[in-house]
Amino acid sequence: MPLDGTFDYLAHDPAAEIAIGSRVLVRFGRRPLVGIVLAVHSDSALPIHRLRAIDQLLDDEPVIDAPLLKLLRWTARYYHHPIGDTLASALPAALRRATAPTDRHRNRGWRALARNNENSRALIRAPRQQELRALIRATDEAVAHSTLLARHPGAGRPLQALAERGLIEAVELPGGIERGQAAAAPTPTSAQQAALDKLASAPSGFAPALIEGVTGSGKTEVYFRRMQAALDAGGQVLYLAPEIGLTPQLIDRLRTRFDAAIGLLHSQRSDGERADVWRAAQRGHADIIVGTRSAVFTPMPRLGLIVVDEEHDGSYKQADGLRYHARDVALKRAQDAGIAILLGSATPALETLYNARQGRYAHIRLATRATGASLPAIRLIDVRSRPLDGGLSESLIAHIKPHLEAGNQVMIFINRRGFAPALACHDCGWIAPCERCDASLTVHRGGAQLLCHHCGAAGHAPHACSACGSESLLALGAGTQRVAGALRSRFPDIAVARFDRDSMARRGRLEAQLADVANGTTQLLVGTQMLAKGHDFARLTCVGVLDVDGGLFSADFRAAEHMAQIVTQVAGRAGRGDLPGEVWLQTRNPEHPLLQRLLREGYVGFCGAALAEREQTALPPFGYLALLRAEALEMLHPQEFLAAAAATVPAEGQVACWGPVPAPMARRAGRHRAHLLLHAATRALLHPILDHWQAVLPDLPGARRVRWSIDVDPQDLL
Ligand code: ADP
Ligand code: ZN
Ligand code: ZN
Repeated sequence: MPLDGTFDYLAHDPAAEIAIGSRVLVRFGRRPLVGIVLAVHSDSALPIHRLRAIDQLLDDEPVIDAPLLKLLRWTARYYHHPIGDTLASALPAALRRATAPTDRHRNRGWRALARNNENSRALIRAPRQQELRALIRATDEAVAHSTLLARHPGAGRPLQALAERGLIEAVELPGGIERGQAAAAPTPTSAQQAALDKLASAPSGFAPALIEGVTGSGKTEVYFRRMQAALDAGGQVLYLAPEIGLTPQLIDRLRTRFDAAIGLLHSQRSDGERADVWRAAQRGHADIIVGTRSAVFTPMPRLGLIVVDEEHDGSYKQADGLRYHARDVALKRAQDAGIAILLGSATPALETLYNARQGRYAHIRLATRATGASLPAIRLIDVRSRPLDGGLSESLIAHIKPHLEAGNQVMIFINRRGFAPALACHDCGWIAPCERCDASLTVHRGGAQLLCHHCGAAGHAPHACSACGSESLLALGAGTQRVAGALRSRFPDIAVARFDRDSMARRGRLEAQLADVANGTTQLLVGTQMLAKGHDFARLTCVGVLDVDGGLFSADFRAAEHMAQIVTQVAGRAGRGDLPGEVWLQTRNPEHPLLQRLLREGYVGFCGAALAEREQTALPPFGYLALLRAEALEMLHPQEFLAAAAATVPAEGQVACWGPVPAPMARRAGRHRAHLLLHAATRALLHPILDHWQAVLPDLPGARRVRWSIDVDPQDLL
């Protein structure tokens, strides 16, 4: 458990200037640690002879500048998390270590050399070389090799030839930063223009806006034009995207649009690259930072605009440690900096939609697709008492067949990876359980392997039932592997590709599979929500969604919202090109009111109903929640600790305290889990209790016997 609080040290050299936000090397107990200077003052609660001196100042300029430190202090306070661990979560790993990163990765790039007439005349018969050279000559600086490849697949050899002719030379670019190239932008549609006019007319200063645009409405073009305006005004731009929204397509679009230094931050970057990007952003050398959740903490002294794409996405909320929500931190950051922030989505979170409807954010709608394509029709297939083959009903098979015969593409969405979610005994009903979790094991590899998706336990599938010894075991239900198998046997001549965490484990696999979809080789796609976002497949005309029912009857109060978002996003992949699209949802609850509302009135109509339900139950955005979680090997310990925590909440106050109750998954990885839920009408009522908790919980009886954490604005109660 990270320690809360700050610690005093003596300056290593009384005459030295120590800038706040610099890293220092200190001894903590016996361990050498990297610390961040939060304040410099001349007195301490400790007597001077008990203070240790700093061993070494690691930076001449602070790694955390004043505005970022302010933001991080706010983040620590708001999420009730120790300041030290908050700072450590924000810093790239390489900067948390005392040694300079050694795994520096350098980007290759090309720079044009001075004119060489003889050799450039020889290019007349080499149009590709000519074109590439023109591209490189168009900027004063070097162009990244990757940028050129993005625009001209196969540019490697002509570039080599140009270098041999002495017309360009290879250079090294700072790691992680690449120079994009400006290209022609499409003329905005009238809806885009109206949105841009509205955004441009906002008064200067903090200006949040929700861009609610149906899938394919051209939200990205609206972001890009506002980004260009911010860059032209000398500002830096922070562009946040969910991990699965950060597609190669998006990155190529940025690279081939902005004549700007672009830094990328995502999970596949090495520590050295992340540190390089951080430093480049901080020194103002990176104009655009594109990244996932934690990029919200990148120091950017000239920050002029923040874009949060797919703002509803659950991956913006960190699920452990510092449990921050990057969209909410981004809003705070924009407010501190007095700048505009664009929140974009086809399916905004109910909180965001509510804020926009209350007039707290400008609300901009893009109701039609930019290309003029129509939105697909969504229809239900009632699968009650229908046999399913690998999760697929006969009527779904019949609906997708003509699309495949016409040479188009079909996508099947199922939010479960593996072969089947459970292995059951046909004779007694036993279900193979995880020994360490309250969950069934998932069947993988066609039935040969059992895996726990919660703790990672793995083993061979048994031959016989553990309860009755029967050998008639069967895999219940379907996951992506089984669906892909069923489709392959139904359509043996059609190439099927599977997109899920298991099939994408190898690096580069996603890009390769997407390329086969783009060139039309793959006609059938099966996948999890990895397929829901960002992809634009021109020949995709039909989408099947296999399990919407899970979202209708879940203990999680956001489940219906997530179901509606996923259905709408997945449906949005269909019919983006010239061909119209259709979408089929398999359900056992065709009359469910929320599902009906979604079908008849779309996501907007669904939100009306869902917000009314939240208002009745005073759930967010009509109330505020915080969850205190605790877990331990002994079943009683979390209960005892949480009961002691509950006793510190005033019984007659305006904050309701529910629990302790076992978590919906009461045991995970061998640990018993329980929680306590706080509910209040306002943040102002809720947060004083959390402040008090942060101070007293570490000393409660039993606090040391459990792992506990506070989750402010929890995304789920699991
Ligand atoms: P969204 O982000 O809203 O889903 P995109 O920005 O991906 O939508 O745009 C969808 C498609 O429409 C893309 O193929 C894009 O190139 C195209 N598009 C966007 N704006 C325009 C425009 N003004 N003129 C022509 N095509 C456009
Ligand atoms: Zn049995
Ligand atoms: Zn398990």
